[in-house]
Amino acid sequence: MSDPKNNNQWHGIPRQEIEWHPTIIAERCIGCGLCVTSCGRNVYAFDYEANKPVVVAPSMCMVGCTTCATICTRDAVEFPSTGYIRQFIREHKIQRQSKDMLKSAPEKYDVKLREV
Ligand code: SF4
Ligand code: SF4
Repeated sequence: MSDPKNNNQWHGIPRQEIEWHPTIIAERCIGCGLCVTSCGRNVYAFDYEANKPVVVAPSMCMVGCTTCATICTRDAVEFPSTGYIRQFIREHKIQRQSKDMLKSAPEKYDVKLREV
């Protein structure tokens, strides 16, 4: 089974086939850069002349996450709807695959074995 953390794939699906990445609404953006400096996946660069973030690596964005949209105080970051990604999960039977992952690797996921 493929590694779901591989950025080229998400649960075995080529990442480029999944339309999940931020879009900047330039009219609302004040150029604070918080989205750029907070993203742990280097999805953004910053255009210093335009004073705006630029989405330079959309396929590096973590599928389903919306952190940069949550922390943008100007509501200037948008993502596809949750309906889109949930439908995608159903169509590609990703929940079944997740169940199989749990069954096949209790040494990795079992709460009793988890060190804190
Ligand atoms: S966090 Fe929002 S306002 Fe700040 S640079 Fe990013 S999009 Fe613009
Ligand atoms: S959702 Fe997360 S990974 Fe994706 S661009 Fe925003 S901060 Fe980066």
